[in-house]
This record gives sequence, C-alpha cells and structure tokens, in this order.
Amino acid sequence: MNNNFPNVFKPLDLGFTTLKNRVLMGSMHTGLEEVKNGYQRMASYFEQRAKGGVGLIVTGGIAPNFRGWVAPFSSKLTTKRVAKKHRLITKAVHKYDAKICLQILHSGRYGHHPFNVSASDVKSPISKFKTKALTERGIQKTINDFVRCSKLAKYAGYDGVEIMGSEGYLINQFIVKRTNRRTDKWGGSYENRIKFPLEIVRRIRSEVGREFIIIFRLSMLDLVEGGSSWEEVVILAKELEKVGVTIINTGIGWHEARIPTIATMVPRGAFSWVTKKMMGEVKIPLITTNRINTPEKAEKILSEGDADMVSLARPFLADPEFVNKAKENKPEEINTCIACNQACLDHAFKGKVASCLVNPLACHETEIILKNVIKSKKILVVGAGPAGLAYAITAAKRGHEVTLMEQSDSIGGQFNMAKLIPGKEEFYETIRYFKNMLIKYKVNLRLNTNFEPNEAGNYDLVALATGIVPRKPKINGIDHPKVVSYVDVLKGKVDIGKSVALIGAGGIGFDVAEFLSHKGISSSQETNLFMREWGVDTSFKARAGVEGVNSSVDKSPRKIFLLQRRAGKVGSNLGKTTGWIHRFSLRNKDVKMINGVSYQRIDDQGLHYSKNNKEKIIDVDHIVICAGQLSNNYLLDATIKVNSNSFLIGGAFESSELDAKKAIDQAVRSAAVV
Ligand code: FAD
Ligand code: NAP
Ligand code: SF4
Repeated sequence: MNNNFPNVFKPLDLGFTTLKNRVLMGSMHTGLEEVKNGYQRMASYFEQRAKGGVGLIVTGGIAPNFRGWVAPFSSKLTTKRVAKKHRLITKAVHKYDAKICLQILHSGRYGHHPFNVSASDVKSPISKFKTKALTERGIQKTINDFVRCSKLAKYAGYDGVEIMGSEGYLINQFIVKRTNRRTDKWGGSYENRIKFPLEIVRRIRSEVGREFIIIFRLSMLDLVEGGSSWEEVVILAKELEKVGVTIINTGIGWHEARIPTIATMVPRGAFSWVTKKMMGEVKIPLITTNRINTPEKAEKILSEGDADMVSLARPFLADPEFVNKAKENKPEEINTCIACNQACLDHAFKGKVASCLVNPLACHETEIILKNVIKSKKILVVGAGPAGLAYAITAAKRGHEVTLMEQSDSIGGQFNMAKLIPGKEEFYETIRYFKNMLIKYKVNLRLNTNFEPNEAGNYDLVALATGIVPRKPKINGIDHPKVVSYVDVLKGKVDIGKSVALIGAGGIGFDVAEFLSHKGISSSQETNLFMREWGVDTSFKARAGVEGVNSSVDKSPRKIFLLQRRAGKVGSNLGKTTGWIHRFSLRNKDVKMINGVSYQRIDDQGLHYSKNNKEKIIDVDHIVICAGQLSNNYLLDATIKVNSNSFLIGGAFESSELDAKKAIDQAVRSAAVV
C-alpha cells in the first residue's frame, strides 16, 4: 500500500540498531510509576503503544537517587531488585518490534521535597522548597548515580536511556548562569558549566558500551532570562556528540517560563524551527517536539527537513494506535490529542494517575476493559454531546445495536461552542473523530430528532445524555434587554457592543472573554503571530529566545469586565497547568478582572454591584451570563415510566464540576459494562 506519510515510516539506522519509523513516544510522567501494581499497569500501558506501531518509546522520568525525586517517594532506579521489576515493561514492548529507553530525570531545585539539590542555592520560583548547592563530592556522587541508573536500565532490558537535560531540571540548572553561580570548576565559564552533562554522558557511554542508545534531551530554547544563547546551545550539542550521544532530542522552555509551549493555544509544531536551526550542526539524528499531534504535521516537519525524527507524547495517551492508523492511511480515525492538559499534566501535577480527556482508557488499561458482548442489546442514546457520543461508540464497538438521537442538526453538543474559542480549534478534531467512529461502528444517528419518552419502549435500555441548561442567576433586572447568555454570544445570535461585563469567571467566562477580546486570525493558527504575542525571538539573537524581547498583542475590540463573587484570584479554578496562560492572555488584552463582588441589579445604567461595602456601577452595552449550569434531566421520570432501564449520563446526570473529562469518563466506564 502506498503510504501518505513516507518520511514518517522511513526506518532510522543508528549504526548498531535500526528504528522502524521516525516516531518517538516522548516521556510522560503518568503517576503509574508510584501506584500499587504500577509495573503491571505500566507494562500494559506501554505494550498497547508498542502494539500500536510506535518505533521508540521513552518512559516517564525516573530519578537516579532520592535527591533527584520530583516529589517525595516518586520513582527512582537504584537497585537490581527494582530493575528486575522493569523487565515486565521491556518484555511487553519488545514483543512488538519497538524499542524503549528509560528517562533519567534528576529534578534538582524543582524537586518538591526538602532534600532537593541544585548547582547553587538559588530557589526555584515555582517551588516552595529551598535548595542546596551540591558539594564537589555531591556532584561526583550524582554523576555516579546517573551511571548506575543507566547500567541498571540496561540490566532491565531497556534499549537505552534518555538523559533529561532540559525543562529547567538539574542538568539545565548547571548549564546556565541563571541557576549556576558556582566559582569552582563546575561554574563560571560556559565550558565549566557544561562539564556536568558532558561528564555524565561520557561516563555512561564508557560503562554501557557502544550498542546502547543514549538520547540527550537538550534545552535548545530555555525561554527564561539568563538561559543559554543559541551559540552556547550549538557548542553543547557538538560536545555531546563527541562524548557519545546517539540522538539529541529537543527541549523547549523551562517549567518556570511564562510562555506556553504545549497547551492547546500553541500552534501545531510551533517550535520545530528551533530543531531545524540545529540541523547540520551535528551528524547524529535530531528529534523535534511540542504540539505535533497529527501524522500530517509529522510528515510536513520531516519532509521539510526540520528534524530526523518527531516526538509525540500526549497524542499517545489520546490514541495508542496513532502510528498504525497513519500507516494504514486512516488518519481520520485517530483520536486527536486536543492539548487541553486536563487529564494528563493536570493530574500529574496534582499527584493523580494521568489519563486522557478524549480517551479515559489511557493509563487505566487494566481497569477499563472493552470486551465484545455475547448478546447484543438495543440501546438508545439521547443527546450527541461528548457523553452521548462516547457512550454510543463504546457500546457499539463492543457489539451492541445503538441508536443516537440528537435534537440539533449536528453532533458535538457544547464542543460546537468550545471549538469557536480562539485557541481551542483542536475541539473540531474530537467532533471529527466521533463522527468517523459513529460511521465505523454503524451507530444509527438520527439528527434533528427530539426524543419523546414514549419511544423508550422500543429499546432494551436508554441513556439520557441531554446535557445542561445555563444557570440564570437571581439578580434584579436579569431580564433586561442588555442581558444575554453565553450561548447567544457564541452562537452569534447577538451583536455584542463596545463594552461588556461577564457574570461568572469559570472556564466558560474566561472562554467568552477570549472570544470577545479577539479579532482577526487567532495566534494559535499562526506561529509568527504566536511568537510575537508571547515575546519570543525566532531569529534567536536574544539570549534564550526571550531576553529583552517585548510581546506585542493586538488590542481588544471592546472593553471587557470579568466578575466573580468569590474572593481570591479570578480564575483560580481553571486548569492547574493552563490557568496562568488564560489569566496572562486576558490581562494582556486589558480585560479587567474583579473578584469578591455581590451583584445588586441590572438596569439601563448597567451592572450594579458592591465590593467591600462600596456600591459600584459598570456602564456597559451588554452583560453576558456565564454563571454555571444545571442538569437538563427533566426527561428522566417520564422515560423511566416507559422503560425502567433508563438512566442519565454526562451533564444530565451531574452538572456540578462537570467538564468534558468527567462526561466522557463516566460514559465510557458505563458503556464498558453494559
Ligand atoms: P452537552 O455537550 O451539553 O450535550 C448534550 C446534547 O444533548 C446536545 O447536543 C443537545 O442538543 C442534546 N439534547 C438535549 N436534549 C435533547 C433531546 N430532548 N433530544 C435529543 N437531543 C437532546 N469542557 C472541558 O472539559 N474542557 C474545555 O476546555 C471546555 N470548554 C468549553 C468551552 C465552552 C465555550 C463550553 C460551552 C463548554 C466547554 N466545556 C469544556 C464543557 C463541555 O463541553 C461539557 O462539559 C460537555 O459538553 C458535557 O457533555 P454532555 O454530553 O453531557 O452535554
Ligand atoms: P464553572 O467553572 O462552574 O463557573 C461558573 C461561574 O459562575 C463561577 O465563576 C461562579 O463563580 C459563577 N456563579 C455560579 N453561580 C452563580 C450565581 N448564582 N450567580 C452568579 N454567578 C454564579 O462553570 P462554567 O464556566 O459554566 O463551565 C462549565 C464547565 O465547563 C466547567 O466544569 C468547566 O471546567 C468546563 N470548562 C473548562 C474549560 C477549560 O479550559 N478547562 C473551559 C470552559 C469550560 P462565583 O460563584 O465566585 O461568582
Ligand atoms: Fe491530550 Fe488533553 Fe488527553 Fe492530555 S488530556 S492527552 S492534553 S487530549
């Protein structure tokens, strides 16, 4: 079969071994490393990705000693006893002609524990723990521990290791002046500051032999003041090649950088220009990374010579079959990662096992098992939002006969509004995926059909996935003509004036503010625009890509006020890893955020509220209600009277703390056992 992605499927010869394709599954901390039966669960998780066709996998970061922990008791590899447990993983992956490397990550001052160490005692701005400078003896011991960890990885059956030298972790902390203030042979000049990574690699290579992959994750663009200049990055790359690195992987941005690098508003493949700049400087293969989530993008990057390989991480949570589907020329069947971070990174940062918003099976492979049914049931699903869609395709995939009824003319439910928000265009992909799965699993889709409970008798069971209705808060004057709902705004039913107040600063309040503060093309669709907006110098004349660079943002076409009743930071309930981006972005657009308000009334003058016992008025053209949602469950009682096997799922079941992650997870788990 002719493949549409020839560069993706070109084998990569590493001299002593060959990778079957150019796709690397990048390192992700899933939290499985630390749970009960974690090794079995990881084996199953990695096995599915290997079976799905990926050429090379890198595990989540494993510390070489306890001081390198990311958090207390996170995983480390320091003994043969633990190495033997890893064999479950390497055996599972090797069944499918895939290769796997263990990532060695020493978090340095990013370690959320009191034992963390760094190049110098410069505290991290994103950690509550102070750090201590390693002594000369400590440095030698840390190098030994990296070497021991590599030897144990080899003993465990890994094909190699990836040395984590980016994202602001320990090695990165040695490399740059921002964090390395030493005056001994490990600090001062650049030559001294890069001794630490070079010594680690040199020693590992001499211990593990020639035929063992060493990937070095090199921070090519630090995105923090006092980071490396481009010339320095090139010097390090060349030196790494000399001491025996097999492949260089690209690292973009420190965790403390205030520039989004992987969230959904980052354009696809936005940072491949950085790796491209390095092409030709070294002879070993280079991997590029960040926001590559489709085979089309991967092929474009490789065909244009931006890199020798592409790294995708979260897309393998969203779809373990990503590579095989591309190989079979069926990219439209890929469940695309929408870069929301909601179930992966946000979970990891909260110490929870990761999963995926669009694929709740991710990291739960041994827990949610989709078995084919012995006896097929006739199932009616009402409502084609994320919950109804996920339920319908899961049940149909298992062999049930499923009808999906939707009152509107399209599937997707609220995702049809989410996809319109500048920076959230990826939501189109989830709707595309669901549409293709409905066809593939032969779900009988009936659009423009309002469900009547008397039809329930024709089915063995009825899942009501009828979503939510927006909450209408009890405020005097709520029916004033100035007041509109977020639904009317996003569906284009009203022309919003030059000034607007938003009641409610949850996810939807922020999204509506984003929607109303934009004009023209969204920077998520244009890399240059994005870099300009966030102040990144793509010519890389500025140190670390940012030093002395100002951001430049188009002004909002209207004055926007975003209000909440709660005291405290506006938008504090937004995603752990993305909330800061939304706040930053709106502040750049001069959106005024007001907390701790008590709404008094709405009249011709505008919105009256009080704050700290003072009465205030915001004179605006429109007031948009974004005050949460209530379950749309009114059909349940009538339906149960006709068919007792009727139940609610998604927003119809529970509107409190509802999001698509919760709706899809509940739907899939429920359809897995029906
Ligand atoms: P819905 O999506 O509301 O779907 C219900 C469906 O049922 C609708 O299609 C409706 O037409 C249909 N229906 C209702 N009554 C009937 C009937 N009688 N007969 C037939 N059909 C009927 N969540 C996130 O997790 N992350 C985000 O980034 C995010 N962004 C969002 C941005 C916006 C602007 C909005 C509005 C929502 C966002 N959400 C987000 C929330 C997320 O979309 C919802 O949590 C999710 O859609 C709930 O899924 P659901 O299937 O339960 O309900
Ligand atoms: P939400 O996040 O619960 O926010 C509701 C907002 O309305 C809050 O700011 C609340 O704040 C306010 N509110 C609640 N009751 C009110 C009342 N009676 N009067 C006035 N204000 C009231 O809900 P949402 O914004 O509707 O979002 C719905 C779901 O979609 C959420 O679960 C959200 O996570 C999800 N979503 C997620 C994202 C994302 O990026 N992850 C984006 C969009 C939506 P106060 O009570 O403090 O005023
Ligand atoms: Fe991608 Fe969101 Fe799934 Fe994470 S949770 S893998 S970002 S779709």
